[in-house]
Amino acid sequence: MESHNRVITAGAPRLLVLAPLRLEAIALGPSGKVGPADLDVERAGMGLARAGASARRLSAVPGPPAAVVVAGLGGALAPGLVPGDVVVADRLLDDQGREVARLASAPLLVGELVRDGLRARTGTVLSTGHLVSGSQRAALAALGADVVDMESTALAGADWGAPLAVLRAVSDSPGAELFSPAGVVGALKGLRSLRRCRRALADWAAAAGPRQVLLAEPRSFCAGVERAIETVERALQRYGAPVYVRRQIVHNAHVVSRLESAGAVFVEELAEVPDGSRVVFSAHGVGDSVHDEARLRQMPTIDATCPLVTKIHNEARRFAAAGRQLVLIGHAGHDEVEGTLGTVPGTKLVSVADDVVHLELDATKPTAFVTQTTLATDEVMTVVGALERHFTDLARPAASDICYASQNRQEAVREMAADCDVVIVVGSHNSSNSNRLVEVARRCGARAHLVDNQADLRLSWLAGARRVGVTAGASAPPELVQQVVDCLAGLGPISIEERSTGHENVSFPLPPEVR
Ligand code: SF4
Repeated sequence: MESHNRVITAGAPRLLVLAPLRLEAIALGPSGKVGPADLDVERAGMGLARAGASARRLSAVPGPPAAVVVAGLGGALAPGLVPGDVVVADRLLDDQGREVARLASAPLLVGELVRDGLRARTGTVLSTGHLVSGSQRAALAALGADVVDMESTALAGADWGAPLAVLRAVSDSPGAELFSPAGVVGALKGLRSLRRCRRALADWAAAAGPRQVLLAEPRSFCAGVERAIETVERALQRYGAPVYVRRQIVHNAHVVSRLESAGAVFVEELAEVPDGSRVVFSAHGVGDSVHDEARLRQMPTIDATCPLVTKIHNEARRFAAAGRQLVLIGHAGHDEVEGTLGTVPGTKLVSVADDVVHLELDATKPTAFVTQTTLATDEVMTVVGALERHFTDLARPAASDICYASQNRQEAVREMAADCDVVIVVGSHNSSNSNRLVEVARRCGARAHLVDNQADLRLSWLAGARRVGVTAGASAPPELVQQVVDCLAGLGPISIEERSTGHENVSFPLPPEVR
């Protein structure tokens, strides 16, 4: 065993890197500061016995590291893996296929490696006592492993008292066996990839540590989103695939992809749907011309528009029928805004207070406004103030058009944000209400970021963040929140506190066609 020159920087977190072979240690070293952490690279020795002895020796050294990484080359078992690919273990197996460990923060490391241009993914690493080639790969792959090595389970088995990650850069595969010319090229590719992992590993170590997780309540799915998703699921059960859905049923990439795999076909416009085919309208609602086109082309429709959006359409129609010119407060291009604009032709859109003076409307004529359901309440107030100053006769909705779900999630994040070092909002980038949660948290002084899932989390956001707030937009599934929390738990011990501003008990009846 040997230790590479240690150059430890005072105050920087120390990442202990355990590399079985000298070449792997060289690729990951020399030791010293890389980004925000010191990498302390130790050669752990080849094989389960040597690695086990190193683990016992190094884990007994006083002054535990901030984090421990097992890193080296590995053999591909899963199809599609090629030399140079990096697999970050989310699971470790012994050579009988028994699970030895789960490593929850693997997706965070993968996200950083991918952003650094590496081909990286999470996977299962199996450790065995001998070199593996030929048909032995298939036997180990059948145990559920993606990559094989000879040390990881032994190194992971010690009591490190610090978060652990295991990564393997693929050196050999069925097409590039060890000790063949292709295998040599593969090993070089693997070593190059290992070297390129150092920045991400340093970030991972800097993000490691105990923290408190504050969970905003309410968060995640609202009644309108649950209704819309169930509408598509039931339509698939009742009428069979394909069921066409105009636009994303709700603005969440995971929901859309799950329904797609169940047989839903998402389209932008009805022009993409064959005449006579059944179509579901999304939760955001559609304008009258879309209903007209469906009728004309004899398409049976199922309207999954959220009842709270329908309420605004009806309000807009009532204002128009009373002879008022109409203003919609909302964001241009959003599906809901297009639907509401299409409900009362001639409706003018404003997004910010400064837009009001540019409206091509007679300020002395009776006017009314409605709003998009998912705006931030404080943002809308300034626009309403500008409308009131501009129009002499302005009618407003009987109650705020901003829906209960948006208001509740904003209030919950407002209550929590001031106590957080960083706020993570789970939601897709085209989700209006998720973006508003980020803005509300930032207006409260917190650093806040929107992530579609745990792989979007940046380790640099978490470095030094001992209190992390987590919430989710109304279209984001609760399981994505859980996955983010699980990843945080992989960076060190967490305590979870729910910050509740109330519970929701709202449900909407399904459209008649799927009841
Ligand atoms: S966010 Fe509001 S308007 Fe949108 S689906 Fe949910 S309840 Fe309905």
